[in-house]
Amino acid sequence: MTARVLVVDDVEPNVRLLEAKLQHEYYTVITAFSGEQAIIRAQTDNPDVILLDVMMPGLDGFETCKRLKEDPRTRHIPVVMVTALDQRQDRIKGLSVGADDFLSKPIDDVALLARVRSLSRFKGVTDELRNREAVGKKFGVIDNATNRDNGQGARVLILEDDAKRSERLRRTLETEQRPMLMEEANSLGPDGQASVELMVVSTSGVAFDGLRLAAHIRSQSVTRNLPILAIVDQDDRQLSLRALELGVNDIISRPIDEEELLARVRTLIKRNRYVESLRSNVDQSMEKAVTDQLTGLHNRRYMESQLGGLLERAKRGGAPVSVLIADIDHFKRVNDLFGHDAGDDVIRQFSERLASNFRPRDLACRFGGEEFVVIMPETLPEDAMIIAERLRVSIATEPFYIGRNRDQIDITCSVGVAVGSQLDDRPDRLLKRADEALYSAKQCGRNRVMAQAA
Ligand code: GH3
Ligand code: MG
Ligand code: MG
Repeated sequence: MTARVLVVDDVEPNVRLLEAKLQHEYYTVITAFSGEQAIIRAQTDNPDVILLDVMMPGLDGFETCKRLKEDPRTRHIPVVMVTALDQRQDRIKGLSVGADDFLSKPIDDVALLARVRSLSRFKGVTDELRNREAVGKKFGVIDNATNRDNGQGARVLILEDDAKRSERLRRTLETEQRPMLMEEANSLGPDGQASVELMVVSTSGVAFDGLRLAAHIRSQSVTRNLPILAIVDQDDRQLSLRALELGVNDIISRPIDEEELLARVRTLIKRNRYVESLRSNVDQSMEKAVTDQLTGLHNRRYMESQLGGLLERAKRGGAPVSVLIADIDHFKRVNDLFGHDAGDDVIRQFSERLASNFRPRDLACRFGGEEFVVIMPETLPEDAMIIAERLRVSIATEPFYIGRNRDQIDITCSVGVAVGSQLDDRPDRLLKRADEALYSAKQCGRNRVMAQAA
């Protein structure tokens, strides 16, 4: 565990005490003695967790937290407020300025380490996603994920078997969220269940074991990332710690303070929505990185990344891999006569016909300009020729439509086919042979299919 923790307190002995405890567990500790210093260190040293004292001269903990959470450079860093014991208003105020958690002085070692561990894990996930997102942004394929969500309006599932308690939880949560009890959740379809954003689990249930349930939720792939807030009886320290160990994201103790409950629920939902938006941005950027923008076909980069593996499999005794290269005939004339947009229309329609002519496991891609490559795994040369001919016919026999008036023009293409041999084959050689066959097809008058010379 090499997480980096920033400890902020105006009283030096307090800093040293926390530093010693954390270093003992092999955390790297950086320190600051005021809110102003903390902000600078957070910007420059990228800590994984910040432990922030509330009472400080100058910028106090609340103001510091607020500024950290407003700054895009630091707002993803989890903040734990360190409050005097039982300062209820402080806790709520802390959560409302965006703190992720709080600890009371004197700080309990185990609670400290459990919190730091859970928050630095969260930070690890978001860092990874933020990195990939940054790469996506560099290539201009994704927008920034935001974490400016208000954390409200979420479907929250309440697991509490005491009817009176669960009803009260529901009524409190209803002011900001869309809470539901277990019975109602059962009547939801799988889609409805998938839309649950948070679970509130009581650990004092008689009919069920809340912790066991939480552990189960963590272990299932569909619900692995679902945030869980556990309710524990006051002072049941052992249980709180076990809950955190099992992957519960946060804890609230009885008697439940309604404002605190709402604030914790909001924080958890906000945090999770942020992670989810990062995740989906990353998924999109991966998708975009392998897709040709004009046609929606795979791009060349993706095709080349796949071809090597398919050839290897063929060499190890699998069925041969065939490839074809199709090139639109006299495409320059389309551009010259009807304009570049008309040319784009043709390329798009060509792609649609191409895609509809192949099996799902064939890999159709735009190789560049008006050239397309299709990789056909487990396809014999004679079959590849038949497939290529079918493509040629589907292009040549139906007109293409261009421009706003959908004017008709005739298009033909030439196709070169090559088959991966057992021996020499590398992706570049195979593609080169297909390209040579294509060249012959052009030489022989276009609108035809040729195979590589044996
Ligand atoms: P050939 O039958 O020998 O293939 O002749 P051709 O005119 O099709 O071939 P050439 O390679 O000389 O010209 C291809 C043209 O395709 C040139 C280029 O401007 C055009 N082109 C490449 N990409 C695009 C595109 O995305 N959109 C449009 N509209 N035109 C493109
Ligand atoms: Mg061409
Ligand atoms: Mg060309």
